[in-house]
Amino acid sequence: MPTPRPMREQTASASATPPVPAAEVAAGDVAAAFAALYGRMPEGVWAAPGRVNLIGEYTDFNNGFVMPLALPHTTVAAASRRADGILRLHSADTGGEVVRLHVDDLDPAADLGWAAYPAGVAWALREAGHRIGGADVHLASTVPSGAGLSSSAALEVVTALALNDLFGLGLPPVETARLSQRAENAFVGVPCGAMDQIASTCCTAGHLLHLDTRDLTYRHVPFDPGAFGLRLLVVDTQVKHALGDGAYAERRSGCERGARLLGVRSLRDLTPDGLDHALDRLDDGTVRAYVRHVVTENQRVGQVVDNLADGDVRAVGPVLTAGHASLRDDMRVSCPELDLVVATANAAGALGARMTGGGFGGSAIVLTEDRDVPAVTQAVQQAFTAAGHRLPRVFPAEPSAGARRVS
Ligand code: ADP
Ligand code: MG
Repeated sequence: MPTPRPMREQTASASATPPVPAAEVAAGDVAAAFAALYGRMPEGVWAAPGRVNLIGEYTDFNNGFVMPLALPHTTVAAASRRADGILRLHSADTGGEVVRLHVDDLDPAADLGWAAYPAGVAWALREAGHRIGGADVHLASTVPSGAGLSSSAALEVVTALALNDLFGLGLPPVETARLSQRAENAFVGVPCGAMDQIASTCCTAGHLLHLDTRDLTYRHVPFDPGAFGLRLLVVDTQVKHALGDGAYAERRSGCERGARLLGVRSLRDLTPDGLDHALDRLDDGTVRAYVRHVVTENQRVGQVVDNLADGDVRAVGPVLTAGHASLRDDMRVSCPELDLVVATANAAGALGARMTGGGFGGSAIVLTEDRDVPAVTQAVQQAFTAAGHRLPRVFPAEPSAGARRVS
């Protein structure tokens, strides 16, 4: 697996309140930067968002349910075709040189650093039989990177969308997402599930994406906390603990072992009614805890769907907090910083909170009354200062548009 560019420090030190990331990069600015870099105007500009997952964590590789929303923060790509098969990749966010490759020579074993994500997309498209040639690509992003908000999926999806349009492939959104996931799994070497790329591709403004990862069917569920006097906050702890990558793969194989031992194709096939019986049949306490998390987490997704259908958005809060306890105690993928956000936000009057994404750092979400946003934010910041942690970044998560062509 290529070494990702270093994005954040492992150790913490308290400092001034960190700036909240800007949501937008102007398409015109990215096109102008492309022109300055490559000496011609781009044929088009595309954008793909990062995401937060409201509920349904560690379920996507168990054929389960997830419910993400797209953030207003996007990765933007300006791109043009080339006739000679050369693929040139540049990111405004790495401060590095243009990476120059040839589409005939893309090799998953090569160590390409950040460029493995977009190069992997070109590789996955060709592996799937799509005729794409070379391209010049320039990227710029406002998705916080390494924060559990899926900057990697935004990068893949925006590349896939650009190549899809430039070479007239006519890929439907779910296929664009699947090929992006394949790039991350097989080219970058990260065994992620399908949620992040499908969220980036298929989300719409003002909605959650209720996705069944078994057959990749989905529904857009209206979600407008502001209409109920509520706010969904993202709290980016700005830490990423190193054990995360290995732990993720271990959880994944533990869940697969559980399914095998219980004779089901995936843990999705277990029902809440059958949970106690299933747990009785498992000797391994670790696998038992993973199974309990996945079954109860799928149930929590259903509960949130019901709460929203009833117009009872406040009832979602305690479901989030229950989900956090399950990720902390059964899946064991939380960390002190995430636990501190959840405990402090809830003690300060939030309706509920949980870690979101893969855990071991990254971000938490908090559902709170609008009027309590300042108190909750301040309480979390004070608790982080008191604990000697670096201050988190807090910003609202407005359900935003999925990937699209912007010019
Ligand atoms: P997350 O997806 O939660 O943000 P990942 O570790 O999966 O975290 O992906 C982060 C990596 O993706 C970065 O280390 C970098 O290699 C790559 N990346 C993301 N955004 C960009 C960007 N705008 N430019 C270059 N590389 C990026
Ligand atoms: Mg990622």
